[in-house]
Amino acid sequence: MTMFDLSGRVAVVTGGNRGIGLGMAHGLAGAGAAVAVWGRDEERNRSAAAGLPGEAAGVACDVTDRGSVEAAMASTLDRFGKVDALFANAGVSGAAAIQDLDEAEWQRVLGADLTGVYRTVQVVVRHLQERGEGGSIVLTASIFGSLGLPYSAHYSAAKGGVVNLARSLAVYLARFGIRVNALSPGWVATAMTEEVVAHEKSYAAAMARTPLRRIGDPSDFAGPAVFLASDASRFMTGAELVVDGGFSAG
Ligand code: NAP
Repeated sequence: MTMFDLSGRVAVVTGGNRGIGLGMAHGLAGAGAAVAVWGRDEERNRSAAAGLPGEAAGVACDVTDRGSVEAAMASTLDRFGKVDALFANAGVSGAAAIQDLDEAEWQRVLGADLTGVYRTVQVVVRHLQERGEGGSIVLTASIFGSLGLPYSAHYSAAKGGVVNLARSLAVYLARFGIRVNALSPGWVATAMTEEVVAHEKSYAAAMARTPLRRIGDPSDFAGPAVFLASDASRFMTGAELVVDGGFSAG
């Protein structure tokens, strides 16, 4: 047994039915964790869970709806009996210059990417505290929480908020043995970035700025997820783990 072993642990991955979340879910299941895949699309949840190499279940959840998050938690506890790790990863993006960024669009992105994270963490923390055995919480932020994306002020603002939410939660929740870290991807080829990756010029620009000379793949997040959920990161809390091929280092 290594310190990366997750046997006997239960992990929730919001937005785990595709993209980066699915990459993380594969890593967690491969290391022995049972995984609850939370997302809105029930068919995608089911097929993602069925493809994982261990015990897994799809659970319907919309992080913008408190009742839905509470119901997802109840059904996860029914199925697995406990939760040890939460990956609050569900998110949406958007593009608009500030002059055209209307309030509905601002609220849509902040509602999922920042308030959705707060809501999910709150529901899971109540369980972790009651259980009294600690836990690990990982918030998917973005390198664009620290760098500015010119046409996504709402997205950058939300992700910057997520990074500092992780720090604040870390300082408070340490007393319950609960660690909280942020994981910040760079450019990764997923449904979210389809247009950027399909666009020859923007793809070339992202590649040119990436020292490792490629765009990220969801499978690049398996190892970091296992590390952050496991005892291998036991002295790490309130940190931002950047996984971007070196994009933000230069
Ligand atoms: P993606 O492929 O579009 O996946 C997004 C996931 O979030 C899906 O599983 C989706 O499932 C779920 N989701 C969206 N809204 C939800 C809601 N209201 N409630 C519950 N689940 C919801 O995107 P991705 O690229 O993997 O992004 C995952 C995370 O990484 C996001 O937080 C994103 O901001 C962040 N990130 C991505 C990149 C990148 O380059 N791709 C870079 C930095 C950070 P349903 O539609 O079924 O709900």
